[in-house]
Amino acid sequence: MAKILLAILSVYSCLLFTGCATNPVTGESQLMLVSPAQEMQMGAQYAPQLEKELGGRIPNSTLQNYVNNVGQNIARISHQPNLQFTYVALNHESINAMALPGGYIFITRGMLEKLDTEAQLAGILAHETAHVTAKHSAQAMSRQMGMDLALSVATENRSSGAAQAAGLGTQLLISLPYSRKDEHQADSIGMDYTAKAGYTPQAMIETMEILERENAVRSIEFLSTHPNPGNRKQNLKNQIASRNYPHALKIGREDYKKFVSDNLK
Ligand SMILES: [Zn+2]
Repeated sequence: MAKILLAILSVYSCLLFTGCATNPVTGESQLMLVSPAQEMQMGAQYAPQLEKELGGRIPNSTLQNYVNNVGQNIARISHQPNLQFTYVALNHESINAMALPGGYIFITRGMLEKLDTEAQLAGILAHETAHVTAKHSAQAMSRQMGMDLALSVATENRSSGAAQAAGLGTQLLISLPYSRKDEHQADSIGMDYTAKAGYTPQAMIETMEILERENAVRSIEFLSTHPNPGNRKQNLKNQIASRNYPHALKIGREDYKKFVSDNLK
C-alpha cells in the first residue's frame, strides 16, 4: 500500500512540478522539481543576492566585457546556445567560480588574479557553464528546495518552510552541493566546450595545477567544493589523449594581461 501511495505521489509530483525532464547533455530523463522557466526565474532571483554577498561587480567595464565575451564564446557552442548566459566578475578575494540555474556564471577577483591566460579563464567558465547545461545547478537547487519543503511538512511549520524555500541561504548559493559525478561531468563537458570554442584544452590542466599550488599555501574556496585536482587532472589528460582536439588553439596570454591582470592592479 505504501509503495502504491509513493508511486501515485511521485507521478502526482511529476505532473505538479513538471517533474521528469530530458537532460540536454546526457539525454537521460531525470526528476526535476523545476521547469526551464523556473530555472531562469531562480537564477534571476538569487543572482543579485550572490553578487552582493561576494563584493558586487568589479567596477571596470573593460574587464567585465572581456570576461563576458570569453563566456559567450563558450555559451554559443554549448548544449544550450539559446539560453541567455551572463558571465560576471565579482570583487571578492576568495578564489572561486560558481553557477546558478538559468545561466548566471560568476568568477571572483581572487580567481582572476591567479590565472594567466584567456584559455584558462575559458576553461573555468566552461566548467561552470557545463554545470548549467547538464542541469547540475538546477538539480542541486531543487534538491535543496525539496528538502526545505519536506522539512516544512515534517515540522508542520509552513511559514518557516516557505520562508526557507523563498530565501535559500547565501552560502548554499556560493557552493551549491554537486556530486563527484557532476564535477567530473562538468570537467569533461567543460573541456569539450573549451576546445570547441577555440581554446587550448590543456589550459584546464594548467588551471588545476595553479589551484593545487595555491591550495598548498591556504585552503581555497573552489577546491573546498571540488574533488581532488590530482584525479581530475589525470582524467583530463586521458580525455586529451582520447579526443581529436584541433591543434594550435588560442592561449591568449597577452589579451588576458591587457584586459584582466592590468585592470586588477
Ligand atoms: Zn564544479
